[in-house]
Amino acid sequence: MTRAIACLNAGSSSIKFALFILAADGPRHAAAGKLEGIGVSPRLVARDISGAILIDRAWDHGADLTHEVLLRDIFEWAGAHLEGREIVGLGHRVVHGGGRFSAAVRLDDQVLTTLETFSPLAPLHQPHNLAAIRAIQALAPDLPQVACFDTAFHHDMPESATRLALPRALHDEGIRRYGFHGLSYEYIARRLGEIDPDLATGRVIAAHLGNGASLCAMRGGKSLDTTMGFTALDGLVMGTRCGSIDPGVVLYLLSQRGMRPDEVERLLYAESGLLGVSGLSSDMRALHQSDDPRAAEAIDLFTWRAAREVGALIASLGGLDGLVFTAGIGENDPLVRAMICERLAWMGLVLDPEANQRNAPLISAPASKVAVRVIPTDEESMIAIHTVNTLGLNNQR
Ligand code: ADP
Repeated sequence: MTRAIACLNAGSSSIKFALFILAADGPRHAAAGKLEGIGVSPRLVARDISGAILIDRAWDHGADLTHEVLLRDIFEWAGAHLEGREIVGLGHRVVHGGGRFSAAVRLDDQVLTTLETFSPLAPLHQPHNLAAIRAIQALAPDLPQVACFDTAFHHDMPESATRLALPRALHDEGIRRYGFHGLSYEYIARRLGEIDPDLATGRVIAAHLGNGASLCAMRGGKSLDTTMGFTALDGLVMGTRCGSIDPGVVLYLLSQRGMRPDEVERLLYAESGLLGVSGLSSDMRALHQSDDPRAAEAIDLFTWRAAREVGALIASLGGLDGLVFTAGIGENDPLVRAMICERLAWMGLVLDPEANQRNAPLISAPASKVAVRVIPTDEESMIAIHTVNTLGLNNQR
C-alpha cells in the first residue's frame, strides 16, 4: 500500500480537495478535484496529475443537497478509486485559528470546540470548514485530521501590526488584527526561496488577488504586515467584499438606515466589492468583457486601492525589493497587474509588457528597481506539508 494524505478546502459553495502520495522527499501531488455549485447545481470534477479527468459528475435536482451529503459522496467515490493507496491523514484549510493557534494542529473534540468560538470572526468560511471536519469524523472516526490555519503565517507579526486603536481590554479579548491567506503566503515565501533566494531574503509584498484579495508584507519570508485584519473583510476591494471602509458607515447603516446586523453583514461580505461597484459581476473576467462604464470604474477602483495599500505596506517594510502576484487575478490578468504597477512607477518599478502579457514568472524590465514576479499559489501543497509534519508522517517508513 502506498500511503497518501488528502487535503480539503470546504467553502460556502465549493469543496476543493487534493490527494498527495507520501514520497521520500515529501508529499507529491497525485490528484485534485473541485465540487462547485453547492446549493444550486453541484458538479464534481477531479483530475489526476496529468490532467486526465477521473470523474465529471453532476447531481440531478442537486440544489437541496447539503455539504455533508456531497462530502459523503466524494468520500465514497475517492475510497473506491484509491488504487493501492491508503489515506493516513487528512488536512483541512481552516480560515481562523484566533490568537491561540500559531501552527497547524491535530484535531480532537477540544480543539474543534475552541475553533467553533472563532466562527463569528469568519462567518462565510469557518462554519463550512468545521462542518467538513465533523462530517469526516463521522465517516472515518479513526482517520487523523489536521487543521491548517490561514491566520498562522501572520501569528508573529510585530505587535503594532496586530493592534487596532481601540481600548486595550478589547485587544486582550481578541479584537485585534490577525491577517488571512496565510497558507498562500507561506507557499509563496517557500517558492520564492527556491526560485529567487536573494529576493526571498529581502522586502517583498505578495498580492493574493482572487475572489478574496489581500497583500502581505514579508521580510526574509516572514509576515510583517498584511491588509486583512480582524476579519477577511478588511483591506482591498474584493469580488463581493468591501475591504476597508470607514467604520462610521456601519454605524450609519445600523442607526440611520435601520438595517439589522445580518443585513449589514450580507451587504459587506456578499453584495459589495467588484459586484457592488459594477452592479454587474464579482468576476474580473466578466468585468473585462463588459463595455459598461461601471465595470471599468470597478476595475479602476480595485487597482487604485491595491496600489494604495502597496504604498502603505512599503512604509511597513521600509522600502521594497520585490512584488509577487498570485491567485486567480494575480496569476492571469495582465491588465490588472499593469494598472497596479503603473501607479507604482514613481518608485522605479518598470514592467516588461511582453512578459506581463504572457504571465511570465518574471514580468519586470531589467532596469526596474523592483523585481515583479508571478507565482501560482498552491495552498493545497502547504496543507499537505503541514499535515505530514503535524502527524509525524515524514518520520515513518
Ligand atoms: P478564490 O478566492 O475563490 O480561490 P480565485 O483565486 O480562483 O478565487 O480567483 C477568482 C478570480 O480570478 C475571479 O475574479 C476570476 O475572474 C479571476 N480570474 C481567473 N482567471 C482569470 C483570467 N484568465 N483573467 C482574469 N481574471 C481571471
